[in-house]
Amino acid sequence: MLYVETKIGKKIGVLDYSKSELEQMRTEKFYCPGCHQAVRLKNGPILSAHFAHISGDVCESFSEGETEEHLKGKKIIAEWCERSSIPYELEAYLPKLKQRPDFLIDKRLAIEFQCSPLSLERFKERTEGYLSNGYEVIWVLGRRYFLGERLATLQKAAMTYHVNRGLVVWQLDIEKQEMICNYNIQRQLVTGKLFYNKTIFRVDKIDSQTLTHYMMSMTKPKTIQFSKSELNEVRLELIRKLVRKDSQLLKVQSACYKEFFLLQTIADECFYPLVSSPVLGDEILYLRALYGGGISTNVWYDCLINRPELLKRLEGFPSLVLRDPNKAYDYLEF
Ligand SMILES: [Zn+2]
Repeated sequence: MLYVETKIGKKIGVLDYSKSELEQMRTEKFYCPGCHQAVRLKNGPILSAHFAHISGDVCESFSEGETEEHLKGKKIIAEWCERSSIPYELEAYLPKLKQRPDFLIDKRLAIEFQCSPLSLERFKERTEGYLSNGYEVIWVLGRRYFLGERLATLQKAAMTYHVNRGLVVWQLDIEKQEMICNYNIQRQLVTGKLFYNKTIFRVDKIDSQTLTHYMMSMTKPKTIQFSKSELNEVRLELIRKLVRKDSQLLKVQSACYKEFFLLQTIADECFYPLVSSPVLGDEILYLRALYGGGISTNVWYDCLINRPELLKRLEGFPSLVLRDPNKAYDYLEF
C-alpha cells in the first residue's frame, strides 16, 4: 500500500517522500487505514517503496504481495491526476464497502489497476460493491491481462460498453508508459478470434480534456470483411468443436435439435457477419439460425409478433435477452 496512517490518524503518502526520507521514518509506527493493524515499511532495492501488513495479519481491504508493476502503475496514475488537476484519492478506503479501490476519482469513480490473478467471483463482488453504492468503476488491466488473440474470462468481465466506442478494455503498460484503449472489441464466431481497434496514449502526454474528447468523439466500427475461405474455416472449426463436445456449442446444438435442424447445416447467411459481441458467444448462431430459416416462416412469424413465444425459445440463453449491459459478466462462464 502507498498510504498509511499515523497513530493519530494522519495520512502519510509514500509518493510524497524520497527513499532516504522514508528510511528516517522507519522507527515511527504506521497503521493500515483499513484494518488499523501495524504495517511495515518495505524500502528495499528491488521494489518501489511501499508498506505491507506484517505477515500473518489478515486484512479484508488490502490484498498483499504487491508487485512492482502495481506500485509503479499507481504512481503513474497518481502523477497523471496531479498534472491534469483531477481530484483523486489514492487507495481510498470505503468503510461501508470494506473496499479500497486503487483510485477514487472525484469521489465517485473507482479505478482498479489489476495486475495479479483475480477470480471472477472476487471481480463480481468488488464490481457489485461499487455499483450498488453509487460508484462507477473502471478496471485498467496490467500486463498479465493485455489483450491478445482470444479473450480470457477476466478480460471479458473488465469490458465496458461505450456508446461511441463499443466494447472497451483499458490497459496500462508501465514499461512503455502507455495507456491503451482497446475498443470495438468483436469476437469471431466459433473460433473466438478477436478483432478490435486500439488507441495508444503516452501517459505523459494525455490530459483529461484529450481523454474526454476522445471518448466523446464518434467512431464508426470498422466493417470487417471476410472471405468465403474464412467462413469455411469457421464451419470446419464448428464441426471440430462439436466432435470435441465443446459445452457451449453442444448447448446451442441441443436448442437447434428442438427446432428440428442441425447447427452444421445452417445457411451461410447465418454466419454473416462472422463476428459478434464477445458477451454473446456462439449462441448468437442459434438466434440467427431461427431467423435464417432453421424454423418455418410461420413459427418465426409467430415469434416476432408473440414475444413470449420467442423468449421461450431463448430460455437457455440468458445473454440473448440481456437487459443490463453493465452486468454482462453475470453471463460469463468459466
Ligand atoms: Zn489492513
